[in-house]
Amino acid sequence: MKYIDEFQDPDLAARLLDDIRATVTRPWALMEVCGGQTHSIIRHGIDQLLPDEVELIHGPGCPVCVTPLEVIDKALEIASRPEVIFCSFGDMLRVPGTGRDLFQVRAEGGDVRVVYSPLDALRLAEENPDREVVFFGIGFETTAPPNAMTVHQARRRGIRNFSLLVSHVRVPPAIEAIMQSPDCRVQGFLAAGHVCSVMGTAEYPALAERFRVPIVVTGFEPLDVLEGVRRTVRQLERGEHTVENAYPRAVPPEGNPAARAMLDDVFEVADRAWRGIGVIPDSGWRLSPRYRDHDAEHRFQVGDITTLEPAECRSGEVLQGLLKPHECEAFGTTCTPRTPLGATMVSSEGACAAYYLYRRLDLPGRPGSRPPGATAPTATDAPAVTVPSREDSSVV
Ligand code: SF4
Repeated sequence: MKYIDEFQDPDLAARLLDDIRATVTRPWALMEVCGGQTHSIIRHGIDQLLPDEVELIHGPGCPVCVTPLEVIDKALEIASRPEVIFCSFGDMLRVPGTGRDLFQVRAEGGDVRVVYSPLDALRLAEENPDREVVFFGIGFETTAPPNAMTVHQARRRGIRNFSLLVSHVRVPPAIEAIMQSPDCRVQGFLAAGHVCSVMGTAEYPALAERFRVPIVVTGFEPLDVLEGVRRTVRQLERGEHTVENAYPRAVPPEGNPAARAMLDDVFEVADRAWRGIGVIPDSGWRLSPRYRDHDAEHRFQVGDITTLEPAECRSGEVLQGLLKPHECEAFGTTCTPRTPLGATMVSSEGACAAYYLYRRLDLPGRPGSRPPGATAPTATDAPAVTVPSREDSSVV
């Protein structure tokens, strides 16, 4: 497939791996920020092909996974109201709140609809002036601009029965929080390329300098990831800590000025809670006062709902890179994609789902894992994988 195959070329992958092997002299721990990168890494076995010295730690960049439980509970409360048409990307319907999920709300009579764009929700609001239409706006700098634009359109066109339940988060404050954690082992970052395609790279040099970590803007195909790893390892071996753009085909340094202008118009930076991590200062957005009329949390008075995360799910540790999914006791036993205990198993970008989908049940320490002494897979051993189909829309 043109534009995809060229970034999955096995010969080029082997050359990049040779280069990484020739460069590395000691252990390094790198974090890939985005769940899309995690899936690419696990699906293609990239972490198993890298030299033992290079460890990939899976970061928090999955929009569904980081949405806190209390926001899910607010969504459940709003979606249960008879006057509401609650619209969401498909991923969110199976994320468990306290005791139920949006699918169950729908089964109980709630009008919960899967849409493919926030503009679909706005159209529903236009077509149903006697109903309240709410769109569940979650995700990072990638999903925030279209949601901002939809609220902007609603206000401009006087569509008053449309509102947004906002839970948007920003990557740079999360990197700061990860680096400030006393347990942090991360020595370099593969920054999320699509986030930078919106926001540019201007926020990263200060972080790289302050924490003395290389930050390499990285894409999502196997060669993109390997190139990000290669550049990060090269910097670490040289004692450097700069920002590099290894994804220039999608990321101009200034990002997307029109999208950023829309964000500045509709949102204001605010503290946000991250699932399993807690509140990170200035790590998200909320609607600015000019658009408060379209704030579902304000409109439906659900701001005082607070919920504690369940102790049995260790997704907070997974999201901070402190635990690999297969190290969670519930992984693959009581917690599977069909019976998820946490968002990292539900989401199509979640690290737990990636480990499950791509057979990381077969890991040392788990029943049926590769016996001691068995050889690690090579590039030519890479298994043929079946990509799961996505029946529903998803947040990216
Ligand atoms: S395997 Fe399940 S219970 Fe364990 S951290 Fe992942 S989502 Fe939570």
